[in-house]
Amino acid sequence: RAKETGRNRFQFFTEDMNRKIDERLRLQSRLQRALQRGEFIVHYQPKVDLPSGRICGAEALLRWHPLGEEAVPPSKFIGLAEETGLIVPIGDWVMRAACAQSKEWEAHGLPAISIAVNCSPRQLLDPDFIERMHALLEETDIDPGRLEIEVTEGTIMQHPEEAIAILARMKELGLKLSVDDFGTGYSSLSYLKRFPIDRLKIDQSFVRDLPDDRDDAAIVEAVASLARSLGLRVTAEGVETAAQAEFLRQHCNDEAQGYYFSKPLPAADFAALLRAGAVAMH
Ligand code: C2E
Ligand code: MG
Ligand code: MG
Ligand code: MG
Repeated sequence: RAKETGRNRFQFFTEDMNRKIDERLRLQSRLQRALQRGEFIVHYQPKVDLPSGRICGAEALLRWHPLGEEAVPPSKFIGLAEETGLIVPIGDWVMRAACAQSKEWEAHGLPAISIAVNCSPRQLLDPDFIERMHALLEETDIDPGRLEIEVTEGTIMQHPEEAIAILARMKELGLKLSVDDFGTGYSSLSYLKRFPIDRLKIDQSFVRDLPDDRDDAAIVEAVASLARSLGLRVTAEGVETAAQAEFLRQHCNDEAQGYYFSKPLPAADFAALLRAGAVAMH
């Protein structure tokens, strides 16, 4: 009897695993066609300068709407795109789309802001990455100082020496660099001081329980002070409430981003917000 249960359980497992593998393969083949089918769009989430309440930047966030199907969130496909290497052409597309968008807003006389684009390990470590970034900057004629590349600590720490060298070359191109999801990775302080970066983005997990959670409050204050000492700017991610925004204004008073100000928006809606200049602080 025990044996039978065991066997059944085994069959149950393999069926479940087969189903997962099938789903993955299906997702992969849909992902492979998504670029040429034009199924991707970029949404833009405002970054707000806390002292003034003005929109000072946008983070470009990829959205996938497969034809005739429901939208697939990044959490469901970025990992697979990374594993298969598809993130390289997809990431190039996002980068180009964001630069073109920024140029268009500029041409329409909208306030000059910076645009942040996420960059995954495969993209950063791709042998031609720097060359393609250089070509993109020439082609789109965008001010590299207004293009910010977001990499996570994990991305850098996979191959720290290589990554630091690539980041240094990106700085030479005039780009701005930030460390995304800061505090969730494994970079030691001795590495942090060697990263040629401009900004730390405090991960939303430290912001979520502000201002009541004393540990998170202490961490956020410490990161803000560390950043100040290292000459880095700070962005707080995932700000959802007025109380969080107020805490951050008092203790770090730099830049913030989150649903409290605005969700990521289609380009046209973002432009309308940018034209208005500031987001409503309730
Ligand atoms: P991320 O770069 O850390 O982006 C922030 C994520 O937090 C976004 O999720 C954003 O929609 C979400 N967010 C913003 N404000 C709030 C808030 O107040 N509360 C909560 N709970 N969430 C908030 P999204 O768009 O689903 O993207 C998830 C991740 O996927 C990104 O995390 C980034 O790592 C990756 N990703 C997105 N677009 C791209 C891309 O074009 N290229 C690459 N390589 N990765 C991307
Ligand atoms: Mg990001
Ligand atoms: Mg983040
Ligand atoms: Mg993230």
